[in-house]
Amino acid sequence: MKDIIYFDNAATTAVRPEVFEKMKRYFCDNFGNPSSIYKIARENKNSTENAREQIARVLNADKNEIYFTAGGSESDNWAIKCIAESYSNKGKHIITLSIEHHAVLHTCQYLETKGYDVTYLPVDEYGIVDIDKLKSAIRDDTILITIMAANNEIGSIQPIEEIGKIAHENGIIFHTDAVQAIGHIPIDVKKMNIDLLSLSGHKLYGPKGIGALYIKKGIKINPLIHGGAQERNRRAGTENVAGIVGLGEAIRLINEDMPEELKRLTYLRDKLIDGILKNIPYSRLNGHREKRLPGNVNISFEFVEGESILLLLDMKGICASSGSACTSGSLDPSHVLLSIGLPHEKAHGSLRLTLGRNNTEEEVDYIIKELPPIINRLREMSPLYEEFIKNKI
Ligand SMILES: *Cc1c(COP(=O)(O)O)cnc(C)c1O
Repeated sequence: MKDIIYFDNAATTAVRPEVFEKMKRYFCDNFGNPSSIYKIARENKNSTENAREQIARVLNADKNEIYFTAGGSESDNWAIKCIAESYSNKGKHIITLSIEHHAVLHTCQYLETKGYDVTYLPVDEYGIVDIDKLKSAIRDDTILITIMAANNEIGSIQPIEEIGKIAHENGIIFHTDAVQAIGHIPIDVKKMNIDLLSLSGHKLYGPKGIGALYIKKGIKINPLIHGGAQERNRRAGTENVAGIVGLGEAIRLINEDMPEELKRLTYLRDKLIDGILKNIPYSRLNGHREKRLPGNVNISFEFVEGESILLLLDMKGICASSGSACTSGSLDPSHVLLSIGLPHEKAHGSLRLTLGRNNTEEEVDYIIKELPPIINRLREMSPLYEEFIKNKI
């Protein structure tokens, strides 16, 4: 087995060697600016257009509807801020979800300081939006619904197609943050009534610092970054050619593997969930059992701190993540876990394990074996647990 076992694929993924191979030549050899006219530059123009085509094919979009950005956060910012700006004459109300990524939530909060009104829809105990609540939140001045395709912490998958349909029946633009979904579950912008969609390279075995925004033809949107005429005057800045090529290749490859990977990861995920819940008492699964990303496991353990679990796992060479406080740099536990109704102490005791293409069944078996003694050891040090056991006897 590897020295490092990486179970944090929702945080970022390793670049595929094939993707890295394709990117290499654009740094020292074919470094030309795609806007220049000589050969090493024109070739780069072709390479970026080829990547655009690869992305469009996966989304079922047209290549002229794909715009490169510096990642998921930029795509979310662009979509939300600039749709808000471009349609402000129609209204200033936006609907989003309480469990969105901060790239969406903090952007919406910023818009509130600029005179916009934002509805943060609650989710049910599994982290799924209530369609009736969405319908009743819609107002005459609602211009944008922005709801993520799949959640990065608890993996819950939203009924995107239905949400898009409701948006369109009401003449509202629909944006989805699909950073966790693209390449992992099927997404079709036409079938799902999506007007704008954010994606990011490093969540699908491509490089960091590159992403894309799908903008349906006919949608009016101001640029977020002003400058040169790149990306058809909508997103200035000399193209990140290597990154763009890497993203295109990564998305093509992950899409090819998707049917088998979906099956394989769902099997490993369920084995991991069952193995942990069966072997560790006072634990619960966060998120929906089936409507969840194939690689996502998120479990809360009573009487322990997520941080401490991570430290002990790290000593075993296992990389994971937690909805607990310090890792996120704030005192509050994850807003997602609080939104699904977990009390603070249970949210603090959560562990997220996200599987990806490099994980094996052997690694899953290893963590199923290693985790129970770690939780036991931490509980033995916990005064709360001691108290709980005393009261039980
Ligand atoms: C990672 C992530 C982002 C941010 O993407 P970056 O490319 O890191 O900026 C946005 N939304 C979701 C759901 C994510 O998981």
